[in-house]
Amino acid sequence: MKNRDDLKPATIAAQAAGAIDTASGGVVPPIRLSTTFVRDTSNQPLNPDNVYLRNHNDTARLAENILAKLENAQEALLFPSGMAAVAAVFRSVKTGGSVVVQTGTYWGAIKWIRDFTSRRQIRLFEVDCTDTAALNQACETHSPDLVFIETPSNPLLKIVDIRFAADCAHAAGALLVVDATAATPILSQPLEFGADIVMHSATKAINGHSDVLAGALATANKDHQVWQAITSDRNDAGAVIGPFEAWLLVRGMRTLPLRVERMSQNAQKLADFLLGHEAVEGVLYPGLPSHPGHTLAAQQMTGGFGCLLSVLIKGDAVDALRVTGKLNLFHRATSLGGVESLIEHRHTVEPDTGLPQNLLRISVGIEDVNDLIDDMAQALCR
Ligand code: PLP
Repeated sequence: MKNRDDLKPATIAAQAAGAIDTASGGVVPPIRLSTTFVRDTSNQPLNPDNVYLRNHNDTARLAENILAKLENAQEALLFPSGMAAVAAVFRSVKTGGSVVVQTGTYWGAIKWIRDFTSRRQIRLFEVDCTDTAALNQACETHSPDLVFIETPSNPLLKIVDIRFAADCAHAAGALLVVDATAATPILSQPLEFGADIVMHSATKAINGHSDVLAGALATANKDHQVWQAITSDRNDAGAVIGPFEAWLLVRGMRTLPLRVERMSQNAQKLADFLLGHEAVEGVLYPGLPSHPGHTLAAQQMTGGFGCLLSVLIKGDAVDALRVTGKLNLFHRATSLGGVESLIEHRHTVEPDTGLPQNLLRISVGIEDVNDLIDDMAQALCR
């Protein structure tokens, strides 16, 4: 029998890292809903790991254990949303500190980061981190506490060199945090490229069924004081995930490698189709050799380039919206990483961030790709 630590991601995920229901012998680990736990007559907890659910949640620990293994991390922490995980990271920065954040990161994150940093007198430097000289200069000049990047980025699919970013951050005494939501722990493990913390909106592919809101952080060094501070703050301030959501994540992760494989194959085929279409001005997908970050993405991602792509429709917002309006299979809805394909006119959602008005963001699901391509083909016809 192989050591469990040497197992491949597909095996870890399918077998929930070896967890079963030890009480019943069932192959499905249980949901433990109890918020509080009994002490014996000498006042000792019956189970020393469990006192109160905000600090000790068996079901969350199981999901965290699986995620940590998939990320090759020392430890993972779950949060009630991706934004709660982002907030946990930034709350660890001291008042008056400084942070370097990639331009064009997920708009909800940068919106909150701008507000939070201004309230806490933290100096925020927004830098195009695909520009290595600019990133290096920002780290040298501003000596940040934290460098925060997102790769591939949502929705422009920019690719940042994680190792380079880690080297710049570390030379400046900063931690590198990578939002790898679009990459998933299956396609990329940023900790192996030198990142200190990897972050995910687990609402997306990690859960994969558009029915759980969750976030995750994983670290290469669980003894680091910043990680310790994040862990304490999560428990003390109560940013914890409920057992049911954690259990759904365990269930969702069982098929994560399969789903990511199929979504990536479908996305690649859809991107190829769109690239050659006369109604299309451009396609942003790191799996396309024409993408400026393709070579780097191929080094940082293994097994595909993910489910997220954006397409620029020839014309303006009206033309782009005409396409979404004609689609029958793609749901017109926000989010990404679920089994069903979604499409969204991002300018409607974030009108002030400078996104092209003809940009449609697509999250490609696990449907038969020929059905998706047929639907897109009829929608693109004038
Ligand atoms: N990071 C990225 C890249 C996202 O796309 C999102 C949500 O869309 C988030 C973070 C925030 O995650 P959540 O919606 O789970 O709070």
